[in-house]
Amino acid sequence: MTATEEVTQTGLADRYGRVATDLRVSLTDRCNLRCSYCMPEEGLDWLAKPELLTDDEVVRLVSIAVTHLGVREIRFTGGEPLLRRGLVDIVTRTTALSLRPEVSLTTNGIGLARQAQALKDAGLGRVNVSLDTIRPDTFVQLARRDRLKDVLAGLEAAQAAGLTPVKVNAVLMRGVNELQAGELLEYCLDRSYELRFIEQMPLDAQHGWSRDTMVTADEILEQLVDQFGLVPADASTRGSAPAESFLVHGGPQTVGIIASVTRPFCGDCDRVRLTADGQVRDCLFARTESDLRTALRGGADDDELADRWRRAQAKKLPGHGINDPSFLQPTRPMSAIGG
Ligand code: SAM
Ligand code: SF4
Repeated sequence: MTATEEVTQTGLADRYGRVATDLRVSLTDRCNLRCSYCMPEEGLDWLAKPELLTDDEVVRLVSIAVTHLGVREIRFTGGEPLLRRGLVDIVTRTTALSLRPEVSLTTNGIGLARQAQALKDAGLGRVNVSLDTIRPDTFVQLARRDRLKDVLAGLEAAQAAGLTPVKVNAVLMRGVNELQAGELLEYCLDRSYELRFIEQMPLDAQHGWSRDTMVTADEILEQLVDQFGLVPADASTRGSAPAESFLVHGGPQTVGIIASVTRPFCGDCDRVRLTADGQVRDCLFARTESDLRTALRGGADDDELADRWRRAQAKKLPGHGINDPSFLQPTRPMSAIGG
């Protein structure tokens, strides 16, 4: 049996035939913005320091995921991962693993101007930067901090450092930036950033999401389709990627739309998540977690941790259920799960 076959047979499979190969690791639940679709203006408690995995613990679990469980892609996220002091070191040690995974980062871009080159040198492949508007006043309204310039500088630095293709994530909020899809796309096309719109999901700490006010994928498409001559890109290249991709004016540039709520893609999901306090989550919307930190700190060896992780993933439900009347939002908000 080859090493790859062995890993596949012992990977993170669930009862519905899916195998998780893409691990999202939250490095902190803290953030320097307060995006209204994610966090309340104030009053959110942070995880206590002793609960957080240390850098060594993060690398150990990532290493088990890669060498024992078939994980091929690692994305560091948060909260805001650039706030994690050991980030460059964690990336360096992750890219040095023998079955080197693809490593990327989801960030709000603040501080990226300073760290982009060091991250590139550490082996980081790509970044996704969240940018919902290019208007300074809308940015303050949405993120409750006046940091647009830092985000734009971070994007430029990522491009210059070769963390490419630079991807941009945008969430549209009714009555705030809902009609800014076109100008945001123009901005990204001019700079060769790949823009993807994400439907707002019920994951905000203050439970303010409502189906009636969310801006849907169809509404976003309607705003863009004529102005940018959008046509669907070849669906056969989508694979397990959540974004539906559209060619802009015949291509090659594209724009993506992630319709997590109105067109769920759970059947093709290949993701698993590790929170900053060492809990495995098989889904963003999971209502249960599996504690790896206690076992890790209790002296469990790699095989035992891998077994626990497999058992956790096997319980993954077929879908997130947002559209069921009985849907309940998970207790942890997006900022603490790792988006
Ligand atoms: N702070 C980093 C950032 O903003 O990119 C990383 C963490 S953030 C939770 C990851 C992604 O989740 C961001 O692109 C953000 O826009 C998105 N996000 C946060 N809350 C969301 C929500 N309720 N619905 C949809 N996307 C959300
Ligand atoms: Fe912070 Fe990212 Fe949440 Fe915005 S979306 S508050 S940047 S964690």
